[in-house]
Parts: sequence; C-alpha cells; structure tokens
Amino acid sequence: MKEHPRHARPHITRDENLIFERSSPGKCGVDLPAPEVPAASAAELLGEDLSRQEIPGFPEVSELEVIRHFTRLSTWNYGVDTGLYPLGSCTMKYNPRINEVVAGLEGLATDHPYAPAELTQGCLKVLYDTTRCMAEITGMDAVSLQPSAGAQGELSGILMIHACMADRGNPRKYVLIPDSAHGTNPASVTTSGYQVKNLKSDAHGCVDLGELELAMTEDVAGLMLTIPNTLGIFEVHIREICELVHRKGGLVYMDGANMNALVGVARPADFGADVMHLNVHKTFSTPHGGGGPGAGPVAVRKVLEPYLPSPMVVKSPDGTYSLDYDRPKSIGRVRAFYGNFGVVVRTLAFIAANGGEGLRQSTQDAVLNANYVMRKLQDLYELPYNEPCMHECVLSDHRQAARGVHTMDIAKRLIDYGFHPYTTAFPLIVPGAVMIEPTESASKEELDEFIEAMRAVAEEVEENPEFVLKAPYTTRVSRLDEATAARKPILRWKE
Ligand SMILES: *Cc1c(COP(=O)(O)O)cnc(C)c1O
Repeated sequence: MKEHPRHARPHITRDENLIFERSSPGKCGVDLPAPEVPAASAAELLGEDLSRQEIPGFPEVSELEVIRHFTRLSTWNYGVDTGLYPLGSCTMKYNPRINEVVAGLEGLATDHPYAPAELTQGCLKVLYDTTRCMAEITGMDAVSLQPSAGAQGELSGILMIHACMADRGNPRKYVLIPDSAHGTNPASVTTSGYQVKNLKSDAHGCVDLGELELAMTEDVAGLMLTIPNTLGIFEVHIREICELVHRKGGLVYMDGANMNALVGVARPADFGADVMHLNVHKTFSTPHGGGGPGAGPVAVRKVLEPYLPSPMVVKSPDGTYSLDYDRPKSIGRVRAFYGNFGVVVRTLAFIAANGGEGLRQSTQDAVLNANYVMRKLQDLYELPYNEPCMHECVLSDHRQAARGVHTMDIAKRLIDYGFHPYTTAFPLIVPGAVMIEPTESASKEELDEFIEAMRAVAEEVEENPEFVLKAPYTTRVSRLDEATAARKPILRWKE
C-alpha cells in the first residue's frame, strides 16, 4: 500500500487562526497624527437613528499581522496559476497577463460609464471591434455584448426567439432540449415562459434524428442545443438537425459556451444555428474563478437582429461610434451600462494577441489534449461514449464503483497528488461521471503527470479501496461535510 504517494507533500503553511482570534486589545495597525479639528461622532454625522451604539468587534492587530494573515491564506488557494485545473465544463485556462495590462490602461479602466459618446470613442471602438470579432468567429450577422454571463446570454437569446415568434403571430409553447444539454438551458427556457420538452440522446451521445422528427411539432418554437454537448461530443448531424427545425418553422439556439472547441474551425451560422451565446470567460481567457465577472455575448442571424438588447454600438460612415437606442423591437436592456466592459477589454486583448491563426491553434490544442487524456485513461476508467471528444472528455467510475469507490472519492484522492479535482456528478446522463477538460494551456509533460496520477489512483482502488475512501491525506482538513456546509453555512465569527 502506498501510504505516501510520490507526488503528495504536506502543506508548507500551517493552519491559520481567524483574524479575530489574533486580536489583542489596544493593538493598532496604523499610527495617524492627531486630527486638527474636533472629531465628529457617527451620531452627529448620520443622525441617531442611523448610527449604532455598540462598537462592532473589529480585530485589533498590527499591520504585519494583517499582511501575513491574508498572504498565508492566499497560498491555500489552488488556481490556474498554481497548476492544472481540469474541471470539465468550466474551461479553466491560463489568463495571459497581457490582458490585465491592457484592461488596466488609463482610459479603458477609468472612463465613466455615463460619459457621453463623444468622450468615450475609444471604449466604444473596443466594444464595436469585439462585436465584429465575435461575428466573424461565429459567422453570425449581429452581436450584443450586454449579457453578463453564459446563462444570461441564453436568457437573452430565448427571449429574442420568443419576441420573433410573437411578431410572426405564432408564439408557440415549447422548446426542445436534449438530455445532454447544460443545466442552465432548461432554466433559461422556463424563465422565458416556454415549457421544456426533453429529447433523448442516441447511443453515440448525439441527438436522435427520429426522436427530433417526432418531437418537432407546430407548437415547438425551436431547439436549444449545447455544442459540443456536455459529453464533449460534437453533433455530427448538425446540418440535418437545423434543417429539420427550420422546415417546421422553428429556430435553433446554440449554447456556445464552449466555443473553445470550435473557434477557427467551424462557424455555427454556417451549420445552421440562428442564435447563440459565447462565454468569453471560458473561450477567451478572461478570469472567472469564484464566480467572478464574465460576459456572455449573444450573436444572431439577420432574422433576430431587430430583437437584440438595446442599445447597440454602431459605427457611422464618418468613422465615429455611438449608441443606438432606436430599436423598437428590442427585448430591451439586459444589463446596466455596456455590459462587463473590463471583461470585454480582456477578450479583445486575447483575440488580438492570438490572431486568427493563434485562435485556431488554441482550439486544436484544446481538442488534442482532451483526446490524449481520454485515450490514456480509457483502459482503467469506463468510457461510456467511445467517440472522439472535443474540448473535454467524460469517463466514469463504473469499474471503481464495483469496489465501493465513487467519482468523488477518486477526485478527493487526486488532491493528494497535487491536482485540482475534475468535475464530478456531471453530466447527469453519465452516472458517476469523471469529466475532464485540460484546455490548451496544459503542456504534454503536465498532462502526463495528471494521467500518471489518475492511473495511480485507479491502482490504489484495486489494491486498497478503503484507503482511497479516506482521502485526501495531505490537506489541512480531510473529508468535509459538504452538504451541511452548503445548507447551514456559518458565515459570521462570534466570540
Ligand atoms: C458554463 C456553461 C454555461 C453557463 O455559463 P455561465 O457563464 O456560468 O452562466 C452554459 N452552458 C454551458 C454549455 C456551459 O459550459
């Protein structure tokens, strides 16, 4: 039994008390000169009803204690700058530093969102150029950068389909969604006022054309497809699928959150999608750890252009940029100001730094890496759909489960080998899913280390399943009660 795996090493930083627990009365982190004017009390400034009587229990610590405390805490994080972050469906790729430099430039970082268009020509150009890049990448006719995330892009797109159908005097009731779709898809459809009709996948993990033919009736507004789907598989019959939906008067929504599998290789408008969103915080490298800001631009074909969120950034023949609010059919605003401007700047920086060739290379590397991992693990881990994958691969714990070890246990043990876990429990159509997305950022050496770790865990499961069930061993805390932590979080320190 391997008690101490080769890659595992104990944490170098010790456990850390809360900052409140370091407090001692009278200690102070700053030394300010005495005020030259009489101090005003909170009650005098705010009024009695807005000021509180009791002093909140702020920690009393020195500057050095504060700095060390938070610096040590920051080393507890695992992030894309620390090592491979193979979460499937999340695209945790490297965020190049040049993006941060550009986003911090004076003008881009400091212009006020309420400044008039005459004074923000540079920012408007950034927005306009980004929409043109998105249009070229997707093949679509028009793009809005307003939505703040993938899911909001979905909502905007489905609302546009709704508006278009209503305009045609044929609102319809349902939207079809395959069982391999991302979980946000049914949520967006339901929020838009449609009802979801489910489609079963075929044995290859793709839409079953026979099923689609039967389901695509006159009361169906359209089909919402995640491409590649959550099995990491490309819909091989996508042209026929789109033609069939169009023939019955429906529209096709493509969830393009994972365009990093297609950029520079295939354009959704060319294979028949009418509307789609992209996740720039996945495909175009803007940081999105911890649910941080993202953007989900929505791109449409001509038929849906009138319904795009308002305002749109437009370029006049004299070369100036402005905001067009005169859009009577628009679904309206979906976000304040111009969307997540700082995120869009990083997106354009990434696109400009890579160029067309570089973007295509990223796509090819991402797909190659995922296929490499899949083929190097499929003898030890079950591969439920044995198809070439795109940007991610989905294996399962089927064989390990026979020895009582499940995907979550394997993921926990992987931590001991120095890797962030892959995605567990998703997609739902694969029980015990082991979902891995290496992205183009990983080198072959790093992938080989990851593969070696996954293979070592599979061996440990054979030799000593009990041992794996208690992992991780090298972290500060071992198995946490995740359900209680999620349901009854204790967020406040109290003495
Ligand atoms: C990540 C993802 C989403 C959701 O995007 P958010 O920005 O988190 O709202 C939707 N669909 C797919 C396929 C995704 O991978």
